[in-house]
Amino acid sequence: MFDLKGKVAVVTGGNGGIGLGMARGLAAAGAQIVVAARNREKSRVAVAEIERRGGTAIALDVDVTSEASVESMTKATVDRLGRLDILVNNAGTNIRKPAHDLTFDEWRHVLDTNLSSAFLCSRAAYPAMKRAGGGKVINIGSMMSIFGAPFAPAYGASKGGIVQLTKSLATTWARDNIQVNAVLPGWIDTELTQKARLEVSGLNEMVLRRTPAGRWGAGEDMAGIAVFLASPASDFITGAAIPVDGGYSIQV
Ligand code: NDP
Repeated sequence: MFDLKGKVAVVTGGNGGIGLGMARGLAAAGAQIVVAARNREKSRVAVAEIERRGGTAIALDVDVTSEASVESMTKATVDRLGRLDILVNNAGTNIRKPAHDLTFDEWRHVLDTNLSSAFLCSRAAYPAMKRAGGGKVINIGSMMSIFGAPFAPAYGASKGGIVQLTKSLATTWARDNIQVNAVLPGWIDTELTQKARLEVSGLNEMVLRRTPAGRWGAGEDMAGIAVFLASPASDFITGAAIPVDGGYSIQV
């Protein structure tokens, strides 16, 4: 039910943090992984790590904000590995400022990286999934798909948008046997949130106090949901937004 042997999974931003945690899980379940990101050295290390654990992976360069770059990454995936079954739209960024201090360029950068990217990558992956008779798209939302924060207007808008894009793509492609779901991670210890801890005073204490599990998540905590949503076990689940948050979203 959870076997991914013979499947090819593209993980954008798969060279670190949540993306690498998911990539490791998908590789352990048997999928061939495409680590798709900009930083070649980080991608090289991620591929080596997946292979050291017995998985198979390649790295491809992509800037998910560029339509041409996304198109060439998906084409290279199919040219080199023959198919594309699973897409994890994970690449993301944040610029932490209140709305009144955020420039339009900064707004656009966050929306392009977090939301338009998911549209571009999903659209580019669709023909290969349809040809194969089905596929899985996993979009990464956030607690800010649900909640607001004064330091994250563009990020919150992009992650709210991810949930609605997920529902829209899920309805569009359901008859093609392509399931599209979103994962809403809680607070996960990654490069992104290490920077956040420096920029937002009291963040670490707030996360520990408010998360019922009493800890930050780790990349590995994201592996199980990735395998579930990529596998036949979730074939009748589509358009859902599933928190993976140690209970953060269930407690005031
Ligand atoms: P990281 O900063 O560790 O990872 C972000 C990844 O995105 C990197 O691998 C980076 O690779 C890639 N990336 C960024 N911009 C681009 C781009 N233009 N083109 C291609 N790749 C890009 O952060 P996280 O692992 O924490 O975040 C991953 C996702 O999870 C994001 O969508 C984030 O919003 C979301 N998330 C994170 C939470 C957390 O607590 N950490 C909570 C909720 C959601 P490179 O620089 O090599 O391109």
